[in-house]
Amino acid sequence: MRNYQKELDQIIDGLHGVRPKLLLHACCAPCSSYCLEYLREYFDITVFFYNPNISSPEEFAKRLAEEERLIREFNSRPGPNSSEIKLIAPEHHPEMFFDTVYGYEDCAEGGDRCGLCFTLRLERAFDAAEKIGADFVTTTLTISPLKNAERINTIGEKIEEGAKAFGGTVKWLPSDFKKKDGYKRSIELSEEFGLYRQNYCGCVFSKRDGQNNEEK
Ligand code: SF4
Repeated sequence: MRNYQKELDQIIDGLHGVRPKLLLHACCAPCSSYCLEYLREYFDITVFFYNPNISSPEEFAKRLAEEERLIREFNSRPGPNSSEIKLIAPEHHPEMFFDTVYGYEDCAEGGDRCGLCFTLRLERAFDAAEKIGADFVTTTLTISPLKNAERINTIGEKIEEGAKAFGGTVKWLPSDFKKKDGYKRSIELSEEFGLYRQNYCGCVFSKRDGQNNEEK
């Protein structure tokens, strides 16, 4: 079984002080917190907040506002080797998500619906990364203990392969951010910054399943 965190460490070791441009797909501020703290030492980061899976416009606005606030906080406290973190946040179009997962609405969290959801978000992340001339793309999603890092990394690598055939140059950056106590650190940082931490993944189906579980 591959150790994606180790692979990331090896890539970072091989940089020898060169700072590549990284597009970091971000699902929410709490998951971004540790990833930004960790990666900003080595990469020039543009955060890509692309989450059409968040069904409610109010919830989307709340999570985006927290992402913006977190980035402002980091930029106001530069580290010894950090550069300014930028943000790209495309408009919210939840219909993109509903079209993508049509027929898979009743899958359990972690199943095929989530695979389609990851693919939608990461394909757009690769497009955005090509547009800004990034060297690498990755996602905060692997920090969640509820999400399968192997599945997310496999999807990222497949998109990279497919894009290469059309002249794409952006590389997938492997990760498993929950390793090295990354998830624990994200909770500490969320408390430190007073971040809003939602209690469901994002889509209306995950909210429904969460409520059903609470009622049982
Ligand atoms: S549970 Fe999360 S990852 Fe799965 S489809 Fe819903 S929003 Fe996407």
